[in-house]
Amino acid sequence: MEEFKYEDLVKATESFSSSRLIGKGSHGCVYKGVLSEDRVIAVKTLSLALRALHDNSKLNNETRVLLSLAEPDNSSSSSSSSDHVIKLLGTSQDPSQNKLLVMEFMPNGSLHDLLHPPTNDAPPPTWPARLRTALQVARALQSLHDRKPFIIHRDIKSANVLFDSDWNAKLADFGLAVMDGDDRLDSPAGTIGYLDPNYTCPSKLSRKNDVFSFGVMLLEIMSGRKAMDVSKQTASIVDWAISRIEGQRVMDICDPRISLPSVEPFRHMVHIAGRCVAANEGSRPSVSEIVMEMERVLHQRVPVLTWLSQWRSLVSLKRWRKHASRCNTSTLVKQGAQKGEIQGDMLSGKV
Ligand code: ATP
Repeated sequence: MEEFKYEDLVKATESFSSSRLIGKGSHGCVYKGVLSEDRVIAVKTLSLALRALHDNSKLNNETRVLLSLAEPDNSSSSSSSSDHVIKLLGTSQDPSQNKLLVMEFMPNGSLHDLLHPPTNDAPPPTWPARLRTALQVARALQSLHDRKPFIIHRDIKSANVLFDSDWNAKLADFGLAVMDGDDRLDSPAGTIGYLDPNYTCPSKLSRKNDVFSFGVMLLEIMSGRKAMDVSKQTASIVDWAISRIEGQRVMDICDPRISLPSVEPFRHMVHIAGRCVAANEGSRPSVSEIVMEMERVLHQRVPVLTWLSQWRSLVSLKRWRKHASRCNTSTLVKQGAQKGEIQGDMLSGKV
């Protein structure tokens, strides 16, 4: 990993000018930097608030996790590579010892922007493109969950899936990630709408929390709806999707902006998403299972769903509904706020 000279980053970003600002997250800002004609980078800096506190912890954590992912994984169980994880090129420090991260630049924006463009000018992604992206993110997650020690991302969402120049998806934003063996004293964190309702205290943290968030994102990919949309009668995408599945209206989940895909692959994908968001963590698939199932859908080796599997998935969804109404995200947020546990930017739905 390269240690970049701060002055080089200042030059590359035109002194961190607003014209080079790509976006702001809850912990910092990301700028486009041009080191040379053929070397474009993304530079992540701390937010003003964290800079004032000299709090490098989030960027240190992101560096530590991305570095560990760059190392070869010798665990026998892992057959996955981290090709679909954003690459860390190096780090730097400003004169006040605040950390900066230098990452590969992703020129095609995020999956969130692609699915929910501010205007309707851009054509929505096609069904095959959506399938491909979903599988690439599942593979990225597999590379986290299958390695030793495993990594839990804790913030799987469409805004953290970025596209390279060939429209390959890469998972980004590892500020909240936790490695197996870390102290698990951190309060639950993530983004409202994607956060697993079971993750109510530090000891409940598991890889199945990421699987839940992935399931929410899968529903978002298929429907084009936002994970949490308060302008809609049913704000939560999970509640909205469950009512359609229970009412035998699975195809209504399909994004109305695209032509209907074939029924069986679509139903199969809904089935996978339904299992991911099951109330009972034990009913949720592992990410390796998700990858396997999605590869079957992609290669159209999808057997007609049996009544048994449909019934099982419905039962777990019904349980989710009961559970979610007892323990919904807003309750979690309120509880957290009372205990003073809510962190980050509430406006972006981050807790
Ligand atoms: P939060 O941290 O609150 O979840 P976020 O994921 O949007 O929000 P960041 O990861 O800090 O926050 O990203 C800020 C912005 O920069 C986003 O718009 C993101 O798409 C963009 N971005 C992040 N990394 C890169 C990159 N390597 N290349 C191009 N754009 C990037």
